[in-house]
Amino acid sequence: MNWKKNDLVTVRIEDIGINGEGIGKIDGFTVFVRDTVPGDLAEVRLMKLKKHYGYARLMQILEASASRVSFVCPAAGPCGGCQLQHLSYEAQLAWKEQQVRSDLIRIGGFENPPMLPIVGMDEPFHYRNKAQFPVGYDREGRLAAGFFAAHSHRMIPLVKADDGETEASEDITCRIGKEVNTLILKTILTWMQKYRISAYREETHEGIVRHVLIRCGYHTDEVLVCLVINAGKLPHSEVLADMLYDLKCGIVSLSFSCNTKRTNVILGDNYHVIRGEKYMTDRIGRNQFQISPLSFYQVNPQQTERLYQKAVELAQLTGKETVFDLYCGIGTISLALAEKAKQVYGVEIVPQAIEDARNNAALNGAENVSFYVGKAEEVVPQLYRTSGIRAEVVVVDPPRKGCDASLLETMISMQPDRIVYVSCNPSTLARDLKVLCDSGFQVESVQPVDQFPMTTHVETVCLLTHS
Ligand code: SAH
Repeated sequence: MNWKKNDLVTVRIEDIGINGEGIGKIDGFTVFVRDTVPGDLAEVRLMKLKKHYGYARLMQILEASASRVSFVCPAAGPCGGCQLQHLSYEAQLAWKEQQVRSDLIRIGGFENPPMLPIVGMDEPFHYRNKAQFPVGYDREGRLAAGFFAAHSHRMIPLVKADDGETEASEDITCRIGKEVNTLILKTILTWMQKYRISAYREETHEGIVRHVLIRCGYHTDEVLVCLVINAGKLPHSEVLADMLYDLKCGIVSLSFSCNTKRTNVILGDNYHVIRGEKYMTDRIGRNQFQISPLSFYQVNPQQTERLYQKAVELAQLTGKETVFDLYCGIGTISLALAEKAKQVYGVEIVPQAIEDARNNAALNGAENVSFYVGKAEEVVPQLYRTSGIRAEVVVVDPPRKGCDASLLETMISMQPDRIVYVSCNPSTLARDLKVLCDSGFQVESVQPVDQFPMTTHVETVCLLTHS
């Protein structure tokens, strides 16, 4: 390699990396360049060079890709939450579909995976029903809320306190979050300013308000607000409640959660209601869910509904089947399956999620669902070997690292008629499908679903059958 740091070079961008950077080659040497998209011809400055690849900074676009679009959010570059906002939505979808296909070919060893076209959103903005905004100070020392820049704890301010000097028009509304968030944050910051309530400073572990969590119901329009504080009590909280409820924007629950630890974990272990309910309510399909500030809940309700519909369709239930829903969270898929199955067993490692799952089952009158706390790879062998429970259909929805090898083994020996694999990481999906297909399963269909427009994430649901 003849290049050295600070050299200016011209490169054609060909692909996108997992963090959304453009990838190009200079004489066979791979470079990653932020803020570029496939098709761009870019002049870049080489920054950090490793043996087989390097990083470069974009200096100018010499020829813009046909898929390039303008950022719609002024904070998109520094914020890092929307890694693909400068790529047309059509091109984002094509890239995600190709990611899934190429992982299945490269890692899974499938020659021609039975892919269905990716399910995208009609309106790929303002889809997130949940946001957690860090609260702090901008460069001028004004109270502000925003997001942390990518891989850092430097806050990119979006909304600032109303101090008589800042114009409301300077506030930025996150394009993938709900529009109402800006109004709520503005009100909280104005209240903080008025009652001299400080924002948390990570370096010194001083100050009170750390984060604001806001959740919105998709079908119900209910809103839940929770302040995460570095204190045991929140002063002037009644005034805050009056101010927020006066907005008449659907708030049904206002609470605070105490987190006095030096930690990156956002929420504390518990929460206290200031006004309203302990939870907000939303629906997925026919089922209702009560969601507390601490509960896990899918963040893109519209696409979740489509994903679950597909999962249930692939499960092909007739009412006679015993079904395992593994990695079940708060039981959202379990309840969708229960409408059409004889019996559903949900397994999940987080005890609080199982508590929510049981409440949700009761709330919806589902009597044919039982939930177990524990690792899927431990609970399933027990249910199968000790209690003799065999499932005709197994649904798995593991975290990014995929299924544990021993769970795959149990599924292979149990030989369910169908496995529905829901995955948030195509590479571990491909790895696990290979193991299952080396032992007698076949992949019947692969359906990518875009749960997270503007980001590099892609969800996939697959059907496997046993011959
Ligand atoms: N199916 C749910 C949640 C999927 S997220 C939904 O659609 O909402 C993955 C879930 O797997 C998380 O709730 C996580 O807590 C859980 N989990 C992680 N490791 C696990 C394990 N080894 N066994 C069981 N559950 C696990």
